[in-house]
Amino acid sequence: MGFIDDVMKNINQGINDIQNKSQEVMTNISLSNRINTLEGKKTALLINIGQLIYDKYEKGDEVSDELLKDKCKELALIEKDIDAARVELKQQRVEGDAPRSEKAAQQAGYKPTPGFQCPHCGAAANSSKFYCVACGGSLKEAQASGSNGGTSSGNGESGQSID
Ligand SMILES: [Zn+2]
Repeated sequence: MGFIDDVMKNINQGINDIQNKSQEVMTNISLSNRINTLEGKKTALLINIGQLIYDKYEKGDEVSDELLKDKCKELALIEKDIDAARVELKQQRVEGDAPRSEKAAQQAGYKPTPGFQCPHCGAAANSSKFYCVACGGSLKEAQASGSNGGTSSGNGESGQSID
């Protein structure tokens, strides 16, 4: 069916367009714009279909079923496009959450130690620091866990900086 092929082509094209955008923020904005544009088209088309049906049945104008069917197909295409864009936007937002802790670490002025993660929140952390910049949890506690099995209190030193 050509119709389904066209739908798939549109969806794939949309996804390709989206993946070609480098920055996640830009992608979110363009996706939101795309959804808004599509919603506008959908509304316009619904009004158009309503007008045609009104003309047909109330004014007795000649409106072919084929035309109405075509309009409905067009509407279905737009709705699939909107759904695809919404799914993509959701994924972008989920993926966008992951690097936040790394950005926080960079803003705090240190690079994370490769392979070392905060035991509390899983963010990339610097093993020479005492506290996780992402969640504020103690990092030393986890590193010294061999001795005491990781009981929580009694490990906070006074003179250590919290940067
Ligand atoms: Zn943490």
